Amino acid sequence: MAQAPLIILAGPSGSGKSTIIARLLKESGLPLRLSVSATTRPPRPYEQDGVHYYFWTREQFENQRQAGAFLEWATVHGHWYGTLRSEVEDYRARGIGVLLDIDVQGAAQVRSQYPDCLSFFICTSSWEEYERRLQKRGEGPESIARRLETARRELERMHEFDHVIVNDDLEVAVAQIRKEIEQAFHERRT
Ligand code: ADP
Ligand code: 5GP
Repeated sequence: MAQAPLIILAGPSGSGKSTIIARLLKESGLPLRLSVSATTRPPRPYEQDGVHYYFWTREQFENQRQAGAFLEWATVHGHWYGTLRSEVEDYRARGIGVLLDIDVQGAAQVRSQYPDCLSFFICTSSWEEYERRLQKRGEGPESIARRLETARRELERMHEFDHVIVNDDLEVAVAQIRKEIEQAFHERRT
């Protein structure tokens, strides 16, 4: 059987990637899972090890990197983040589509190894909206400034993606993405 789809969601912080992924997992009716990344970033108060991320020291991360455990990795906002092969490969072989919430650098690495992956760049139609959403999510001023700075660089790379999704209306964005993922499953069955 062909591998189930590998699906990338990237885009500026606050564009809505996590929200969209939660909706897809809950209600798409498709066999999907979210890959849990490893990171050296400290956990936020509500985050759990092994659920939101594997929270590793730099030493642990480096050891795993040298052992070839990562499918891709990148530095984002001064911390290391990486996708583990063990979060992706076996699942795809078993027919489960894997969602990656990663940055644009990681997306480029995945695309070069898996040219048939499906990639989405999530954005909003106005610049001010990122700031509004990050404030609503409870980020502090320093974190917001750093994330907006990264957002500028990320927006310049949206043309690298298969689909650009403007997440102004959440229902519309989820429906658009779901349709493309369903199509990707269908193509692999035929
Ligand atoms: P990301 O994972 O891309 O950083 P989140 O999914 O955490 O972004 O979303 C950031 C904030 O924006 C959250 O508070 C979320 O509820 C809100 N949000 C997501 N999508 C929309 C939308 N279409 N309209 C309004 N608010 C949204
Ligand atoms: P946060 O710290 O807000 O959870 O994530 C910051 C950024 O890191 C987001 O753009 C997120 O998509 C990205 N990210 C999370 N996990 C990975 C990963 O495994 N690899 C890469 N390249 N980026 C990641």
